[in-house]
Amino acid sequence: MENSKNTLLIVDDTETNIDILIELLGKKYDVIVALDGEGALEAVNENRVDLILLDIMMPVMNGYEVCKRLKGKESTRDIPVIFISAKDDEESILSAYEEGAIDYITKPFKPLELLARVTTQLRVKELIEHLDYISSYDQMSGVYNRRKFFELSQKKFLQSQNNLYAVMIDIDNFTSINDTHGHPDGDKVIHFAAQTIYKNLEDGSIFGRLGGEEFAIICTDSSKQDFMDSMQMIREVIEKLEVISGRGERIKFTISLGVAKVAAETQSLDELLKKADRALYEAKDLGRNRVVFSR
Ligand code: GH3
Ligand code: MG
Ligand code: MG
Repeated sequence: MENSKNTLLIVDDTETNIDILIELLGKKYDVIVALDGEGALEAVNENRVDLILLDIMMPVMNGYEVCKRLKGKESTRDIPVIFISAKDDEESILSAYEEGAIDYITKPFKPLELLARVTTQLRVKELIEHLDYISSYDQMSGVYNRRKFFELSQKKFLQSQNNLYAVMIDIDNFTSINDTHGHPDGDKVIHFAAQTIYKNLEDGSIFGRLGGEEFAIICTDSSKQDFMDSMQMIREVIEKLEVISGRGERIKFTISLGVAKVAAETQSLDELLKKADRALYEAKDLGRNRVVFSR
């Protein structure tokens, strides 16, 4: 079974302090240790760390500097940092919060209080992660929702690669699936369509449900032919897919895809998606179940 214990990183240059903290926290959490700032920065790169207990007074790099560096880096920014220090003046405490600390505990500490404060901050982190998840993913399909799709796509667009593609996808004749099988089975089709498309995309693709039975992809590919081939492959996989309805019937369906590639004159993500949308309409007009590249 996967280890579900949270991992704490203790950063302190005094062995006795470390021993006390390990004794206190080791039963409930996985604990790793760093004896200086450099070691702490290495440890967070090599391990998935859930919370850091950080001493201030250490040689070479003090706790404030360590915290500043952690907060300045995307991959470590969100790890909660609790300072533990013998310094108990207001200025020292304030400096810790200014560098991004989430809590400050003075030495000598009360063991059970420290344990409670660690537990509380881990719970807060868990709640933040949960909120982040539900604000980014569409519950029905399990893929990015509209908001997250646009947030990530906008970032990717601004990196302005000239081999950027946009794809608009719409399930064909979806109204008749709803009419024949009912809304809950319609939802099931949306779920399986989304998951099937997602599983067949290259790493790094941004894929989201824009609403209803409409999806979009933003991604890069080296050649137009390769990209169109991969979209055709997805269309074929969906064509072969069978979703079993609540009453045990086989539901078959198809999708239409409109593809656009960024060009020198493409001003915005919106423009690129509109181009893909026009190609999607063309695919519908031409009889559905096809991939059309925008003219
Ligand atoms: P076309 O091939 O032209 O796309 O035909 P279509 O029937 O799919 O046309 P349209 O896009 O206009 O219809 C989409 C339908 O999807 C209309 C709406 O009732 C239904 N729908 C929208 N959101 C949901 C949803 O979350 N669940 C279900 N079951 N149906 C939805
Ligand atoms: Mg449709
Ligand atoms: Mg539609």
